[in-house]
Amino acid sequence: SPHPTVILTAEKVERRFGGFTAVDVDHLDIHRGEITALIGPNGAGKTTLFNLLTGFDRPDAGQWTFDGHPLAGVAPHKVARLGMVRTFQLTKVLSRLTVLENMRIAAPGQLGERLWTAPFSALWKRGEKENTSRARALLARFLLDDKRDELAGSLSGGQRKLLEMARALMVEPRMVMLDEPMAGVNPALKQSLLGHIVSLRDDGVSVLFVEHDMDMVHEISDRVVVMAQGRVIAEGTAREVTNDERVVGAYLGE
Ligand code: ADP
Repeated sequence: SPHPTVILTAEKVERRFGGFTAVDVDHLDIHRGEITALIGPNGAGKTTLFNLLTGFDRPDAGQWTFDGHPLAGVAPHKVARLGMVRTFQLTKVLSRLTVLENMRIAAPGQLGERLWTAPFSALWKRGEKENTSRARALLARFLLDDKRDELAGSLSGGQRKLLEMARALMVEPRMVMLDEPMAGVNPALKQSLLGHIVSLRDDGVSVLFVEHDMDMVHEISDRVVVMAQGRVIAEGTAREVTNDERVVGAYLGE
């Protein structure tokens, strides 16, 4: 059985592009109930690793388990159903749908196998009602409820980030993976976004995020994993890793 304090564990994960090895992670553990930052210079392989772990890309080698479930080769919607969801560096909200519609299509079962038969069943109608009330509650939490009938395309960059995070929570995940949550967010919204991430952790959700904003990394992460040239080169608290010679060396010449 999985170690109780580890929610995600990866072994010997490799991804090559032609002759170039973008990810070559020997071992990685992500601790349950913590906020973990994944940092490293440009080209270190952070996004590629994120894509692998969430099923958006396939590894050339390696295994990983999430909460005891082997996940290598599992498609993104199934990964989400098992409780691990992600956001993207460039938000993927659907501009031509309303804010509420964006939330509802993220609900479990919406894009799955029940597509044809479901609309005729009573179960579906009950599920729809539950999904709508969950969506409304999340929109309220992210201060987007008054925007629910507006097109997502009309939101500001920061509001889209909030919507993307709210949408990820529709499946009641146990782990969320955030790809550069602070990119393109104005300073006024940054603190509230930080607050939302911390409150996820306080609700027992494990968080892994990729971020360049070192202030944010210092402010909210319990643990930091540093990658360079596809490998994990250091792990520890923000203070520990920023004082680590290997880490300083990896960032030189950035
Ligand atoms: P990071 O997110 O840490 O900046 P990436 O994971 O985006 O790093 O990229 C790691 C390396 O892999 C980079 O050298 C990048 O150019 C390369 N890479 C990423 N995706 C591809 C791809 N689809 N084809 C070829 N090379 C890629």
